Amino acid sequence: MAGQYPPEWLEELRRANDIVQVISEHVTLKRSGRGFVGLCPFHQERTPSFHVHPERQFFHCFGCGTGGDVIRFVMLIRGLSFPEAVAWLAERAGIPLPAAGAAQIREERERRELLEVHRWAAEFFRQTLWSEIGRVCREYLALRGIKEETATRFLLGYAPPSPDAIQLAARRAGVSPALLIRAGLVITSRQGQAVDRFRGRLIFPICDAQGQVIAFGGRVLDAPGAEVGGVATSAPAPKYLNSPETALYRKGRQLYGLHLARESIRRLGSAVVVEGYMDCLSLVQAGVENVVASLGTALTPAQVQLLRRYAPTVTIAYDADTAGELATGRGLDLLEQAGLQVRVAVWPEGKDPDDVARQDPAEARERLGKALPIWEYRFSRLIGPAASADPEARRQAVRRVAEALARVPGAAEREVLVQQAAGLLAIPPTSLAQQVEETRRRQGMPGLPGARRSKSGSWQHTNEGGRLQPRSEQLPPTVQRPAEVEASLLAWICRHREEGRALISQLNAAWFRVPAYRRFVEALQEWGDLEPLLTGKAGEELAALAAAFVSGACGDTGGLLSVSVGHAAEDGTARGGGGGAGVRGGKPATWETGQELVWRVQAQAEIAIIGNFEQELRDWERMLPTRLSGLNRLILRYKQMVANLAPGKAAERGA
Ligand code: ZN
Repeated sequence: MAGQYPPEWLEELRRANDIVQVISEHVTLKRSGRGFVGLCPFHQERTPSFHVHPERQFFHCFGCGTGGDVIRFVMLIRGLSFPEAVAWLAERAGIPLPAAGAAQIREERERRELLEVHRWAAEFFRQTLWSEIGRVCREYLALRGIKEETATRFLLGYAPPSPDAIQLAARRAGVSPALLIRAGLVITSRQGQAVDRFRGRLIFPICDAQGQVIAFGGRVLDAPGAEVGGVATSAPAPKYLNSPETALYRKGRQLYGLHLARESIRRLGSAVVVEGYMDCLSLVQAGVENVVASLGTALTPAQVQLLRRYAPTVTIAYDADTAGELATGRGLDLLEQAGLQVRVAVWPEGKDPDDVARQDPAEARERLGKALPIWEYRFSRLIGPAASADPEARRQAVRRVAEALARVPGAAEREVLVQQAAGLLAIPPTSLAQQVEETRRRQGMPGLPGARRSKSGSWQHTNEGGRLQPRSEQLPPTVQRPAEVEASLLAWICRHREEGRALISQLNAAWFRVPAYRRFVEALQEWGDLEPLLTGKAGEELAALAAAFVSGACGDTGGLLSVSVGHAAEDGTARGGGGGAGVRGGKPATWETGQELVWRVQAQAEIAIIGNFEQELRDWERMLPTRLSGLNRLILRYKQMVANLAPGKAAERGA
């Protein structure tokens, strides 16, 4: 993507936007050695592990592993794409964007003009709302319980019920009629007459993630004769009307309200998705800040990607019917496939979040807080209340559940869900499992292929000795090893050059989850020594990291390893080792200590993984003796492994 900008120009852009200054606008930085530190804006922390290197013009967080140059920082903190971040920085520094091809220039000009006319139109609608003409619309807002403050926050406006209000205003403001048509604000009627698209409607400006208006949605006021505008239209006016697609706006690519919600979405790690404008406004008024509207029931892939950029968890807050259809059909599969944790908020029958939030804000918040994990919600919908009493209803429920479970791609996950559902249906798990597998066979899906969680990708059943192998690059977020453990290992290697050199060849880059650390290890192996990295031969980013590792900038992050090494030394295993000094300075440690460290980094990750799957293992264990004796043996072996990895044991084994 950087390809469309000349490298020298990007260099100039970086020079003109000092990383320390740009980051200072978002993070309070304190000087530390040759750099600066602060609290990381990308993860929650109390002690600063976010470092900025003015010389290298790089930032890096030793807590979460995020890092990069000033462009990367702007992309992350403002939720921008690369070209957007580049454009933002260019404007900040007053540097013109590089000359591009003619088509690109035309396209950019079109976008710029459209942005301008949208900004102008939003302001026209807004002023109209708060003018004398807008009284009817303000009364409607009051009726719907929308406060003035909320209306202002969302830039709400009003299109008067006349056929040419915006055209007259445009003439006065010198906005070209052709541009109004290109923006979709004016349409041509059947009589060939230019007519305002939005007439007698409450206007919701739709913004991109940066808060620039790119389209409008208009809602009729529920007042008789509100949308007449003196124009004969062929069909009755639809309740909602949107801008057409333009160079700025594609349907299904935006989330309404994202520019206002994104900071809290990032902070809370979760987004609430509602269906319509009003749900969004009402929930904001009820004190829910992390809410966006999908403006349509099924989320599009583009919207799912957008959500994923900001938060790992998504709470669906559609009205009861829509949510039910989506959750029990394939409507939410996209979210799950994208690896997002999906929850579904349950509303009283026949009510949507807007109704509930207006009547009782506290209840709306509570219902969001109690949103059910997707499968729990699905089961409650599929099984229903009648299933416990009536045998026929129960048979139907079992069939519905079996069909839903047959779609779950991972066998292990399917097994756990079968257990859960069987409990709810009060039937033996084996009989439900049979039905599920039969359904799968009927639908031509593969049978039990062994343990494969293809969706989360965390386990891969390989045939190498029948071992279940964690795939380090794809661990689910809950079991990921903290980046600081990886950082402290690399810091150790950088600060103990002699032993570090010996260690380099023993390292496997794939052990490292943080991409920058993986590259660091690869570069260490490629160059065989730290020196080339320090002098910038392997690139600025690695140079900044190497400098930080050597200078001890990340010295406070060695907690876990310090403890492990200290512990090992007490048992006399780390011969001639740090003697408890661990990662941070002290006497130089030996090659064996380094080995021990590497081993512990792996062991620690495996323990975390195994701990996370303990529940799953227990579930398996209950059903396996009768069904899959091979896997049962595997579990026993894993338990053995866990026992061996316990710190005390590990030390014994090392001795
Ligand atoms: Zn961080």
